[in-house]
Amino acid sequence: MKTKILMTRREALVLSAGAAAAVSASAQPAPFTLPKLPYAADALEPYIDARTMEIHHGKHHQAYVDNLNKALSGQTRIAGWSLDELLRRLGEVPESIRTAVRNHGGGHANHSLFWQLLAPPRQSGPAGALQKAIDAAFGSRSALEEKLKAAGMQVFGSGWAWLSLDAQNRLTVHGLPNQDSPLMENRRPLLGIDVWEHAYYLKYQNRRADYLDAVLRLINWDFVSDRFERLRA
Ligand code: MN
Repeated sequence: MKTKILMTRREALVLSAGAAAAVSASAQPAPFTLPKLPYAADALEPYIDARTMEIHHGKHHQAYVDNLNKALSGQTRIAGWSLDELLRRLGEVPESIRTAVRNHGGGHANHSLFWQLLAPPRQSGPAGALQKAIDAAFGSRSALEEKLKAAGMQVFGSGWAWLSLDAQNRLTVHGLPNQDSPLMENRRPLLGIDVWEHAYYLKYQNRRADYLDAVLRLINWDFVSDRFERLRA
């Protein structure tokens, strides 16, 4: 096993800068491009192995991007829409490509967020307003983590476990199937955990619970806390 080194404040800031770039990228219209991972493929070892990261990012995520661009080509009416807009206004997307945009647009958005949500383990947890909101809504960070794990376990087949802000700015934990995004139901995604088998099968096989425990150790709470401040404003 490799020696793990906790991130320095400077490295954390570099990650945050990458995160900001990725967030602004979600405001750009098609054609969409695969964002770079904000860390090396082996940075999350031993919790998530490099091979899984390479296939998950380089093959699965790339395929969502390519298939989304393919679906949107020649669609002039919605050509200027950002990724967030396509998902929030899915009902206005031409019916002939709506399922493709739902699946591949959702896949692109969800994975672009997911990479930013992870980081090598460090000591920090939810901070500032997010910490207060988590304590008020769930009682504690560990109670929230239990809820996220339960939501991930309850997804039958492929999907995601989410922590979202609802229309009233309340924190909610919920599961969604496939690549559906909270944006499709008027929620703003704060944190999502991919529970598709492609996210964990090489290392964890059928042990989704062990994978969920591992991912919960990798959450970049500085990023989530900043995102909360932005999204609730
Ligand atoms: Mn995935």
